[in-house]
Amino acid sequence: MSHVIAVPDPSLILLIGAAGSGKSTFARTHFKPVEIISSDFCRALVCNKEADQSATLDAFDVLRLIVRKRLRRGLLTVVDATNVQLKARRRLLPFAVQCEVPAIAIVFDVAEEVCLARNQSRPERQVRAEVVREQMEDLKRARPLLAREGFSAVHVFADATQSDSAVISRSAHPWRLE
Ligand code: GDP
Ligand code: MG
Repeated sequence: MSHVIAVPDPSLILLIGAAGSGKSTFARTHFKPVEIISSDFCRALVCNKEADQSATLDAFDVLRLIVRKRLRRGLLTVVDATNVQLKARRRLLPFAVQCEVPAIAIVFDVAEEVCLARNQSRPERQVRAEVVREQMEDLKRARPLLAREGFSAVHVFADATQSDSAVISRSAHPWRLE
């Protein structure tokens, strides 16, 4: 049975998962390109190269700036970054609170071997295996915390196939109906 995810519009949607867990593929399938703010794209914007980790701080400054501006306008926004670290989520969730839109977590709890294999086979940049392993550890720590971080809903894909068959059901949030 496919996983149905209710998405209020507007809302802040955080994709949460290691590199190779399928976040960008999922985002592209279900959301308009302008609705997706990805850390890779923000890195490319500030330094030309998606993989240049030295640009991370600047890239996330840009990411948060865009997310905040979109939410203030009442626009649904999907953050395509690993979001496995508590500090990353803590810097985004307050924007949803300030703008009075719900925040939704979508967790890609995909096996480490799958993430590593997908990373190996991806045509663009590849993330190092030890970095993927660290992200998996961060995700394990994050799982029990998410329910109390202020999300309106936390959806979990428990394996690699669940995100491929998921269905998104959008509905207008009261923000839009006023
Ligand atoms: P992200 O790092 O979490 O954004 O993961 P991506 O969505 O970029 O997926 C990583 C790689 O896995 C991409 O190159 C995909 O094309 C590849 N991939 C291979 N098989 C599958 C599959 O069955 N489902 C998904 N979602 N991705 C797959
Ligand atoms: Mg990606």
